Amino acid sequence: MRRHLVCHLSSAGSGLVSRDASRTSLRALLTVTEATRPDVVVRLDALRREVEACTRCPLHETRTQAVFGEGDAGARLMFVGEAPGYHEDKQGRPFVGAAGKMLDELLASIGLSREQVFIANVLKSRPPGNRDPQPDEIAACRPYLEAQIALIRPVVICSLGNFATKLLSGAQSGITKVHGVPQTREVGGHRFHLYPIFHPAAALYTPAMLETLRADVYRLPQLLTEPLPQPGAGSGGDGPPHPSVGRQADPIGQAPPGAGGAGGRDESAVALPPAGGATMGADAAAAEEDQLGLF
Ligand code: SF4
Repeated sequence: MRRHLVCHLSSAGSGLVSRDASRTSLRALLTVTEATRPDVVVRLDALRREVEACTRCPLHETRTQAVFGEGDAGARLMFVGEAPGYHEDKQGRPFVGAAGKMLDELLASIGLSREQVFIANVLKSRPPGNRDPQPDEIAACRPYLEAQIALIRPVVICSLGNFATKLLSGAQSGITKVHGVPQTREVGGHRFHLYPIFHPAAALYTPAMLETLRADVYRLPQLLTEPLPQPGAGSGGDGPPHPSVGRQADPIGQAPPGAGGAGGRDESAVALPPAGGATMGADAAAAEEDQLGLF
């Protein structure tokens, strides 16, 4: 059994906690090496301090505090949501409200905890009243997310809902169309599987979506094992069809953990569009404490 140094970055604490840990099976996918973690953690912590002092957009005037994100600095699985809500703004941590509890439950369903992944948002400061993020706010905050991705270098990024999906995919297709279908994307020279899923808050307000969300999450362990298509390979110029992950051949709610259908990958690996180039339109329902531009 291999032993690893695992480092966690806290947005509210001293920044770095290290411990030895032994992990097997899926958890081995989320370990980090002694050679790479300390430097990355130090750089992430510097980025956190920058975010916490950020005044790049007007949201700094109304926030209680910025929410940088948290989790394993060497995580192979990263989640990107929309923006801090009421509770996140108060506590300085991502996904601590009802949607966060749902995310915890979804992670537990595949044998993971939030300490083994990294959780961040498109915006680091709460929009007043949980309104939708504005294009200028997304453009201002986007470099922080890109820097997080470039440092953490996750194998899979799960975009939660419309805003994160449209930003990271560089496409305007809504989450209802693209959820559960892996794509290949690139940020700062780092290629990753982009895997859009419904925002956990969607399951809070639309219970019928919960099974869809669970089915999509069940496929994450398999996707974490899939090699990324190489640039320029295969049809469409960007790699072979994904061998096992995709929802088309797998009825919602039928897939056991680790199972998937055939095909279904969007193989067009692209870098993120220019800042401000993505229009983040989304339907939104009113709510006080959760982000609802989700569908
Ligand atoms: S949302 Fe992002 S860009 Fe705007 S103030 Fe907060 S950290 Fe800075």
